[in-house]
Amino acid sequence: MIVKLNLAKVNKNKNFNIGNGSRIAVIGGGPAGSFFAYFALGFAEQRGINIHIDIYEAKNFHVAGPAGCNRCGGIVSESLIQALSSDGIVLPANVVRRGIESYKLHMEQGATLIETPLKDQKIASMFRGFGPLGSENIDSVSFDNYLLELCQDKGVHTIYEKVSGLERNETGITVQTKTNSANYDLVVGSVGLNPRSFSLFKKVAPAFIPPETTRTYICEFKLGNELINQYFGNSMHVFLLNLKNIKFGALIPKGQYVTLVLLGKQITGEIVDSFLYSEAVQRCFPKGLDIDKIMPCQCFPGINIKNAHYAYSDRVVLIGDSASSKLYKNGIGAAYITAKAAAKTALFSGVSESDFKRHYQPECTRLNRDNAIGKFIFWVTTIIQRSSALKKGIFRMVVNEQQKVNDKRRMSSVLWDTFTGSAPYTDILRRVLHPATILLLLANTVNGIFKKPEKGTE
Ligand SMILES: Cc1cc2nc3c(=O)[nH]c(=O)nc-3n(C[C@H](O)[C@H](O)[C@H](O)COP(=O)(O)OP(=O)(O)OC[C@H]3O[C@@H](n4cnc5c(N)ncnc54)[C@H](O)[C@@H]3O)c2cc1C
Repeated sequence: MIVKLNLAKVNKNKNFNIGNGSRIAVIGGGPAGSFFAYFALGFAEQRGINIHIDIYEAKNFHVAGPAGCNRCGGIVSESLIQALSSDGIVLPANVVRRGIESYKLHMEQGATLIETPLKDQKIASMFRGFGPLGSENIDSVSFDNYLLELCQDKGVHTIYEKVSGLERNETGITVQTKTNSANYDLVVGSVGLNPRSFSLFKKVAPAFIPPETTRTYICEFKLGNELINQYFGNSMHVFLLNLKNIKFGALIPKGQYVTLVLLGKQITGEIVDSFLYSEAVQRCFPKGLDIDKIMPCQCFPGINIKNAHYAYSDRVVLIGDSASSKLYKNGIGAAYITAKAAAKTALFSGVSESDFKRHYQPECTRLNRDNAIGKFIFWVTTIIQRSSALKKGIFRMVVNEQQKVNDKRRMSSVLWDTFTGSAPYTDILRRVLHPATILLLLANTVNGIFKKPEKGTE
């Protein structure tokens, strides 16, 4: 009898397959965690097996303010909206706070409106949590909560507790919280950029090297529907200003609020002020409005600037921000890609280190390579930000493109995809390097130097 039991243990040890009755713990119920659970259950159904999934989540997405929010600009790119809908996830009206149809590009030279390249497609703005501090809109649902409930409807069990320990044992991995502990065949790390949670994963995946981050800035302005319609409409406002450390600034309308996102290098309060009180930004708000008084929420969250290494081990895989994200843009899209790839590997190949290395790592490598191109694009953007002649050239080119109905709108589509994250950086670079784009930019830059300034569409 004893011999039989031991043999069973050994066999189970070597069994790195997910089968009938397998138990999976997903640590973190942000988009990556929910996407993983959603796809894992779908793939299990395809295989005709029953699996049990627990999602552990430390936050309550029904609470307004930082306690219930996974801090983010809240833009869902059109490419992600399409991918989600083909997977059966259609964002409902109470999750989408505004459909963004255009963006307004602001430079020191002026501002111009850029329409979405494909007119019937919009990008969506949403809140990751219930909303900024003081939010009372009970009819709206947070994006993260919507995804979690989608998983719950499919049978996922949610445990609203913080995971405090992970321990490898002979038959799997034990997940510990303050009140409970349970054993699983696979543990999925979708803990965002939480350093404490990374240290838990180091215990069960010792080779794991967490991603590197830099400090960004987000704040919300409560303007009310009327002023938002009047001053922002269905446009995201993007700023390419020559300001220290700032790569990109955006004002995104959402319901009663406008969200400010500042990306760059170690953003501080001083850098935020240099942006907020610049002429281009002040022009966007009603004259005389004290913006400090309508700011219920602000934070300085980290963002990935270098992806993780070895984000897997036997029975362990990390996904989303915890593994590979997309530089500065469409992190939710990257969470979708990594979550789906990890779920596919676990359900169709296995959960050993070599399974993840062979079938999951290539998706992360693809994202990492694209980010290397993204780094180059943002380096070029920084040079453009500092050069008034190049900025004038781009400005003229975009204004001219927007005035022609059937134009290819080369620069407009490059800028749209760079700012919204709708296309891979590799694809954007290919379009930038097209001889026609370079020639048109050169012509517009030379014209900009010698001719009268182009008037924006403002
Ligand atoms: C300033 C800024 C603006 C951004 N704007 C956009 C944007 O407009 N569009 C876009 O697509 N992306 C944007 N991103 C990126 C996006 O926010 C992330 O890529 C995305 O949230 C990653 O999802 P995730 O599920 O991997 O991690 P997260 O969303 O961070 O979720 C991790 C979850 O894990 C939980 N957790 C962590 N540790 C534990 C634990 N021990 N126990 C239980 N639960 C735990 C947390 O509570 C959290 O809910 C932005 C990021 C920043 C910083």
